Amino acid sequence: MRPGQRGTTGAGAGTNGRTRLGTAPVATGGAAGIMAGYPEAADKASLRRTNLGVMLRHLRDSGPQSRTQLATAAGLPKATVSVLVADLIERGLVREGELDRAGSIGRPHRMVELDGRWICGVGAEIGADHITVLVLDLRGTIIHEDRRALDIPALTPQAALREVADLVADCLSTVAERDMYAIGVTLVTQGSVDAASGTVAVATNFGWRGVKAAQELRTRLGRDAPPVLVENDAESGALAEYLASPSPDVRELVYVTGGIGVGGASISGGKLLRGSEIGHMKLDRLDRPCPCGRTGCWEVAVGLQAFLDAAADPSDRVHDLSVDLAERLGDLLDRADAGEPRTLAALATVADDLALGLGILADVLNPPRIVLGGYFAVFGRYLVDTAQQILDDRRITPTAARVIVTASALGLSNAARGGAQLALAGIFQDPSDVPVRPEPEDDAS
Ligand SMILES: [Zn+2]
Repeated sequence: MRPGQRGTTGAGAGTNGRTRLGTAPVATGGAAGIMAGYPEAADKASLRRTNLGVMLRHLRDSGPQSRTQLATAAGLPKATVSVLVADLIERGLVREGELDRAGSIGRPHRMVELDGRWICGVGAEIGADHITVLVLDLRGTIIHEDRRALDIPALTPQAALREVADLVADCLSTVAERDMYAIGVTLVTQGSVDAASGTVAVATNFGWRGVKAAQELRTRLGRDAPPVLVENDAESGALAEYLASPSPDVRELVYVTGGIGVGGASISGGKLLRGSEIGHMKLDRLDRPCPCGRTGCWEVAVGLQAFLDAAADPSDRVHDLSVDLAERLGDLLDRADAGEPRTLAALATVADDLALGLGILADVLNPPRIVLGGYFAVFGRYLVDTAQQILDDRRITPTAARVIVTASALGLSNAARGGAQLALAGIFQDPSDVPVRPEPEDDAS
């Protein structure tokens, strides 16, 4: 395993001649990560793989570049860069772009950029009340997205995974129709996940224990399906947030996602740390029972169910699991915006209880930024300011660094997006795992 890799090769990965999906997505994210991942004792082949990765990551992080710019950035001879770029073009990972007219003497050369037409990654998220699939091309553009309302706890794990497999199969058909190649699928789920074996160890809100999810999904998708990884939803969400960050200087953040469960994960020094069961910190003022078996868990107070129960009667449509979550939350947001007192009161309670837990995370982890995702982000304008105020007020000295609270702008599918990014991450480490693109289009315009 190369430095920076997190050995999360899922069940079946690499068994069909496809890529080995080692994941070190965050370690190389942002401009500072360009040179990460060099093996200590490199033979010629591994050096070449490393350099291919350096080229690809630089194009991802800095946009279109001339071969001269790539050579300067990587400290490699231009002739070497030209050979590496030719290899990446053959694999359908980069393409020739615009002419480089800026500052060059003599004949202008074509810029090189990531090619979004061939390789894509698939993220499939299982929430307590929905499944979402999202496909990203190599440039990070969404090329397909689908969500289905589903009462996961009411289903057996096998039945739930059959639904996921159906949705993923539909999406793989779409990918094939577009003449694209899905390099991997990441199944994103709540709870604790053993990424190495592709198993969901415990997902209390689903009632799952020891579910071999990757294996199950692969069996249902068939032999020709891409490798399947399994990841925790908060970790995937944190990754998506990090990669979407407008500032490449932000190397630390804590991500807290609100659904039926509440999950968290952090990024430190540009590296994704394992998520933790922050939803089960003992912070519910009413000490109510939690599906995990304890009482007084934070998610009992601030999870989606608590908010829905406080905001609307059981017969209200916002409790109807057959209605898409975005639609139900949209209803409630309209009510809040119209000043409906019960919804506003429910949001005020969530904001206070949310700040309670965020204060602890701020004390323990001291991040510069906490990003709220899931339903917290939908109601960001009712939650962020309160949480920010409470965090500001409890600083020990007025000069202490502020923790800035923001709402995710990526929407309810951001964990699925992170899953798709994880599926693509291995390519940016080792592009040589990608097969040569059959009959590449020679479209240099
Ligand atoms: Zn609990």
